[in-house]
Amino acid sequence: MQISTLGRSISASPTLQLNQRAAALKARGVDVIHLGGGEPLSLAPEAATAAGVALLNTRAVRYTPAAGTTALRQAIADYTARFYGITPTPSHVIASNGAKQSLMIALRALVDPGDEVIFLSPYWVSYPEMVRLCGATPVVVETDADFQPRLEDITAAITPKTRVIMLNSPNNPTGVVYSAALLRGVIAACEARGVWLIMDDIYQRLVFDEAAPSGFALTERGLDEGVIIAVNGVSKQYAMTGFRLGWAVGPKVVISAMADIQSHETSGPSTVAQEATAAALAGDQAGVEALRLELRAHRDLLVNGLAQIEGARVIVPDGTFYLFADFSAIEPDDRALAERLLEQQRVVVVPGVDFGRPGHLRLSYCRGRAELEEAVGRLQAFFARG
Ligand code: PMP
Ligand code: GLU
Repeated sequence: MQISTLGRSISASPTLQLNQRAAALKARGVDVIHLGGGEPLSLAPEAATAAGVALLNTRAVRYTPAAGTTALRQAIADYTARFYGITPTPSHVIASNGAKQSLMIALRALVDPGDEVIFLSPYWVSYPEMVRLCGATPVVVETDADFQPRLEDITAAITPKTRVIMLNSPNNPTGVVYSAALLRGVIAACEARGVWLIMDDIYQRLVFDEAAPSGFALTERGLDEGVIIAVNGVSKQYAMTGFRLGWAVGPKVVISAMADIQSHETSGPSTVAQEATAAALAGDQAGVEALRLELRAHRDLLVNGLAQIEGARVIVPDGTFYLFADFSAIEPDDRALAERLLEQQRVVVVPGVDFGRPGHLRLSYCRGRAELEEAVGRLQAFFARG
């Protein structure tokens, strides 16, 4: 009796594990502040929950097509027309159980064992494991100390085995938004070399100064002739993490292969979540703007608080709700630092090494303002003590 090589080689998501650890401490009555998480605490749009409840009340909650209902796919197509400047049809769209599943299924549809997938460091914790789940090889391209990538480094990493480049902008964990010039260069390289580009846009609308450029707007090619698959979802922008609804928009051939894979792995996503999502996309968007403004104020609070800590190096995030600060001048061992912060100040953060960049800590600022103010005080006390 044994566990497969794959089963033994994949590690649990460190960010999801931290959520559990923080919740367990809270349940024991410890006044822990959780800056390790990745979900806004605002409430889901009323229209979304009302639509979900309305379906539940019919008591007829059935399977849907594997790629999602046509109504939801049309709502996602309309959303895409509004925020990306292209007009897909429902057959360019698949809805999945979260953006996580859309990313995973896209990789499964595009990558064979032994192929290579390029992404930038710092990267979201799941990217290397998703690539390994496909039997493929993660190829990590480093960015500079300000987390800015160089186009030459990305194109130099492309080999005959490269099938996909994955880009996440605004970026988890750094909050950096990659420039239109960089994206244009990556898209041109992908088109020239026959490489797919998966754009993880889950934080697209949570930007503080300038809009994050849409990949589709930076190419002459139409959706079906192009190389871009854009992934997005309701988790962050609508604070609907638990609904588990994300999507991908891309060429029909890719979406159709993804739908076939999804039809065997999970079938369509929860019908209740699909109804709720269609309503969130079509409904009042004021909540997204309120969240964006709140997060911008939180970012400023945290940036100003960290500026008081000698030796901490902060790159001001352009978006998301994460700040990725360099503490290596104070303590190069980020895991030890995160542990001490938890033990001494009861503040949960994620070590940079989980994102491929040791010496850093990721601090989330998506919780309440009072909690964040308290966290800043605790961080300052911790680092003042040395
Ligand atoms: N991509 C990135 C960069 C993320 O941070 C997350 C966070 N959960 C996801 C994708 C997946 O989001 P979800 O599955 O909740 O839609
Ligand atoms: N993406 C979030 C994070 O990085 C949520 C947790 C997860 O899905 O890994 O914290």
